[in-house]
Parts: sequence; structure tokens; C-alpha cells
Amino acid sequence: MRIAEIHVYAHDLPVHNGPYKMGHAEVRSLSTTLVKLVADNGLVGWGETCPLGPTYAESHAAGAVAALGELASGLLGAEVLPVPLHRRMDGLLNGHNYAKAAVDIAAHDLVGKRFGISVSDLLGGAVTDHVPSYYALSVDAPNETARIAAEKLSEGYPRLQIKVGGRPVEEDIETVRKVWEVIRGSGVRLAVDGNRCLTTRDALRLSRECPDIPFIMEQPCNTIEELQRIRPQVSHALYLDENGTSLNTAITAAGTGLIDGFGMKVTRLGGLHPMRAFRDLAAARNLPHTCDDSWGGDILAAACTHIGATVAPELLEGVWLAAPYIEGHYDPENGIRIEGGHIKRPQGPGLGITPDESRFGAPAASY
Ligand SMILES: [Mg+2]
Repeated sequence: MRIAEIHVYAHDLPVHNGPYKMGHAEVRSLSTTLVKLVADNGLVGWGETCPLGPTYAESHAAGAVAALGELASGLLGAEVLPVPLHRRMDGLLNGHNYAKAAVDIAAHDLVGKRFGISVSDLLGGAVTDHVPSYYALSVDAPNETARIAAEKLSEGYPRLQIKVGGRPVEEDIETVRKVWEVIRGSGVRLAVDGNRCLTTRDALRLSRECPDIPFIMEQPCNTIEELQRIRPQVSHALYLDENGTSLNTAITAAGTGLIDGFGMKVTRLGGLHPMRAFRDLAAARNLPHTCDDSWGGDILAAACTHIGATVAPELLEGVWLAAPYIEGHYDPENGIRIEGGHIKRPQGPGLGITPDESRFGAPAASY
């Protein structure tokens, strides 16, 4: 099975109930990039990549379309199998994992359809059909964040994440304490995510002033070096997110004992094939992690849910989806939804969803 056609679509996803606030940015609408691969046997596979604005990571929507343009002509005629496809993409363009991920996801969708198996089985086998999610609480006033935390607790989320940073650390500390008052004793786990925005000074203060609250600290500071500086001084478990830009950085972080777990994004690593390797590396060191993406619609949601379903349950911190912030679905019938804080693993071959492509308009490019 070889790639016969590649179509790239740019599609806007307005933030429902927005804006979505992190320490360094507020987002009101995001542009997602969709890839449709048509194989020489007529099968169709879908992929997606959706940078969370231009400042969350070293990626942006226009960059995805441009990188796919750089790759496309060299991919026509290529065998649809993840290993040779990744080698071919790396031979055509250095870096730009987030763009390659859209091709990787579409290839997994195609291979699954070709053999009549789901993407999770292709990735080694699902261990659950009931995948835990978690809810990210935007940077907001402490009482408002606590109010939403109570709402999400009652909806059944097994884990909450509080966004902090970009304001006086006293407000972040007050927010963490108020949310803890709401969830203490419930068994709901807590992450505090600085999205690279805290100074080492403020990260140390946050940890020291909340010694009784068992949260994990996710990517509090901007660089690996800053994390190395705070590591011996914090009593909270430290997770790597934005700095885990490749399998190489993940191996180093795990191997040097810098961190206790990961917030991991499928597109940041380059798609499901590298994510599968990451899953196994993390398991070898017994390190918990998420299986997320930074944003995106049903295609990315399905991809994250499939890989999340294959992770050892005791190591899976959850699959975060942008679905609560997006109105409507690409696939009105089988679109990926969070119910009771969990996601039902999509059924059927490939990703298990069928996007209604009339929603995407004309392709931005076809090859
Ligand atoms: Mg994070």
C-alpha cells in the first residue's frame, strides 16, 4: 500500500467557553492542520496537528502547512508503514516533528484500516476501553478555579491540573490551596502546571509553601537547566512536559533522574510511532506519563486515546483532550467525547472515526 495523494486542510477551532489561559498566553481560536492520505488501493487515512498558538512550543500552524509542503512530493509513492515513512520524512526535512506527526497518524489510520484492526491494537494492544482523562483549569482567580474544580470533581474526573504562572506566585499558591480544599479526600490526583513560566525562585516557593499537598509539579520553569537547579530542593514530584521535545531529551531526563514523570504530547515527538517507543522507555523506568496533545479535534483526540489505551494503567496519568473547549465534532456520530472524566476507546479499524470532510472546505494544498 503506497501513498497516492496527499491533501492538507487548514481548519479553525474557536475556543468554546474561552479564552484558555496559560501563564504565557491566552488563546481564543486555534488553527488546526489536517492531512488526508489516499492510498493506491483507495483507502483513506486522516492525520492532524494543532500547535497551541505560536508560543506554547516551537511550532505554529503556518509552519505545519509549510513543512508538509516540503515533505509532500517526496512522500508520494512511499510505502505506508511507520518505520520507512519516518526515515523518509527525516531524509526530506530535519526536525518539524509536529508536522511529521500528522503524516504518521494518517499512516497508522491507513494501516489499521488495511488490516482491519484498531490503531491501539496496532500500537501493541489496548488494555482498557475506558481511558482516564484529566481536566486543565485555566489560570484564573483562586475562587473561580476552585469553583470549576468542584464542578469537574462531580463530573468524575480522576485528575485535575491547575495552570499557574504569569502572575504573582502568591495567587498561584492561594489557588492551589483552594483547589486542594475542594478535592482533599476525594482521591482525585492533582498536577500544577507552570507551562515554563515560573522562575526557579517562585517554583521553590510554591513547593515550600504547600508541603502538605501531594501535587506533581509539571514543567514549572523554562529550561532543563532550571529544572536541574530546583530538583534537589523541591519535595514535590517533578514532571517534564514542554522540554521533552524528542525521544533523545526524554531518555536523558529519565536516565539522569531529573524527573519523576512526563506530560507527553504525541505530535511533539513526531506521532504515534515515536510515542510508542516513548511509552516503552517510560515503562522501563517505571515513570508515569500522560498521552496528550496540545490541542486539536477528533483526529488527534482519537490518536491520543488509542495510545493511552495501551499504557500500563498504573503509569497512565490520563489523556487530556481539547474536546471540552471545542464545539462540535469532525465525526458527528463517533467523535471523541469525555464522559464521567473518561474516554471510550474508539471502535472499528484505524482511528475509528470518519471525519465529515465537508466541514474543512477546500484543501489548502493537494499533492
Ligand atoms: Mg503541561
